[in-house]
Amino acid sequence: MPYVGAIYRPPSEARSFILQITVGCSHNRCSFCSVYKDKKFRIKSLEEIAEDLKEARAFAGNIRRVFLADGDALIVPQKKLLKIMEMIHQALPSVERIGVYGNAKSILKKSPDDLAALKALGLEIIYIGLESGNDEILRRVHKGDTVDKMVAAAEGVHKAGIALSVTVILGLGGKALSQVHAVDTGKVLSRMDPEFAAALSLMLVPPAPLCEDYEKGMFELPTPFEMLEELENIIANMDVTHCFFSSNHASNYLPVQVWLPEGKEEILALIREVINRRDKNMLRPEAYRGL
Ligand code: SF4
Repeated sequence: MPYVGAIYRPPSEARSFILQITVGCSHNRCSFCSVYKDKKFRIKSLEEIAEDLKEARAFAGNIRRVFLADGDALIVPQKKLLKIMEMIHQALPSVERIGVYGNAKSILKKSPDDLAALKALGLEIIYIGLESGNDEILRRVHKGDTVDKMVAAAEGVHKAGIALSVTVILGLGGKALSQVHAVDTGKVLSRMDPEFAAALSLMLVPPAPLCEDYEKGMFELPTPFEMLEELENIIANMDVTHCFFSSNHASNYLPVQVWLPEGKEEILALIREVINRRDKNMLRPEAYRGL
């Protein structure tokens, strides 16, 4: 498949066919993010997408799940996105589920009817990066969205009957805002009430602009155990209906998976035990971490 540049997808889409319908990220300003800095954003033409689908049909067999890349592919205008989804079903009739990355802006650009139409064509899950539940941190990292917009976007997704998966980043507030980052993030996850939530741990990878702040001493990275304290605080402050929470992404020091609220006390006890022991052997080694 002729992908443009490196392709990223959520861990849960590991078995999906990745259809690249945009190149890069339309925002591309988050200071912690290095992944699309080398790509100039554009929406692929229907001809390019048709070619990719033809190739998938020829070589990939029965495809049940499709993930639309790149960064925030939901930004594709509604008419074109509907056309792309129709093309997917025509080329790959076995497809049952389509997923996509979105952000608050791209979700809020869609009306309730737009989201319902996407759901009717098989859009079953939207992945959104909340990153932090604290507006000051979102402002500092140039996320381009506010907490209230994230919550409004989540409400729209829920109303359309589409599953919501929310990502947060441990360490994003630095040492200075570590505590407030964790508490506010747990509270905002409660307001967004997603079906799935995932924690990543901040990795400073060039050319992410935050690397420069770190090198100049303007941003202090929490230690691995301080990141675990954030993980503990986030979960402790989550009051959700029914959510599968995981930290199994390769960037994390401690992978955990739990259904909330059912498994809350058990997982908190496990995390607290690791924190109290301060035994680095219980953590993923630095060399094995990745994005
Ligand atoms: S974090 Fe997401 S929205 Fe921000 S620049 Fe990276 S891909 Fe774009």
